[in-house]
Amino acid sequence: MQIRIAGLVPESFVDGDGIRFAIFMQGCLRHCEGCHNPETHALDGGRLLDTNEIISAIKKNPLLDGITLTGGEPFLQIEAANELARAAKNFGLNVWCYTGFNFEDLPPEAEPLLENIDVLIDGAFIESLRDLELQFRGSSNQRIIDIKKTREQKKIVLWSEEI
Ligand code: SF4
Repeated sequence: MQIRIAGLVPESFVDGDGIRFAIFMQGCLRHCEGCHNPETHALDGGRLLDTNEIISAIKKNPLLDGITLTGGEPFLQIEAANELARAAKNFGLNVWCYTGFNFEDLPPEAEPLLENIDVLIDGAFIESLRDLELQFRGSSNQRIIDIKKTREQKKIVLWSEEI
């Protein structure tokens, strides 16, 4: 399946916990003021790749803890993002995903992808709430959500490093 990406970072230490293969997906309609990745906004920007190429690159690196879907807005390419997420889970990797949506506002079509996500960092970047001290997020409105526990407990459960 084709995926439109802005770029790949095969070993990232800043896009989630541990060593991660980060996929910067192309396209975002939100235009948050102060966005760090404005080059990822154009829906026809970036480049097209086959998801199998990315999956092969992920499979080749035994040091990875997981993959991170970021962007751009991963939920604009749900099926392609889910191919990567499913493959990562099959390799025993965890899946983190960034989105400009609040978790509660994700559309029903997001459900299959959510099933393969362990940690979701949600919410648009809000420049007035920007805080450089925050781990893995840009502004304090954004949450690092443990999706598995949130689904089990039917309430938002934040990710905790100790677990
Ligand atoms: S949601 Fe993310 S990529 Fe999109 S404009 Fe906001 S900060 Fe930038």
